[in-house]
Amino acid sequence: MTHHESFEKHDHHVSDKSCRICSLTYSHEENPSSLGICPSCGYKILIVLLIFMIVTSYIAWFGVL
Ligand SMILES: [Zn+2]
Repeated sequence: MTHHESFEKHDHHVSDKSCRICSLTYSHEENPSSLGICPSCGYKILIVLLIFMIVTSYIAWFGVL
């Protein structure tokens, strides 16, 4: 399977889903996610959440002190 084929043939497989964030087609069987996002966007969200948690903890610390 090439990248070109996955774009041309929409009905070749049911498990292929398009990402909610970048609208990229990815295999849902290989990366089962209930969020409907591709693995690369999943990592991005994970990093953003991690930074958000660090920032929130910093604010909480300075708020206490
Ligand atoms: Zn994506």
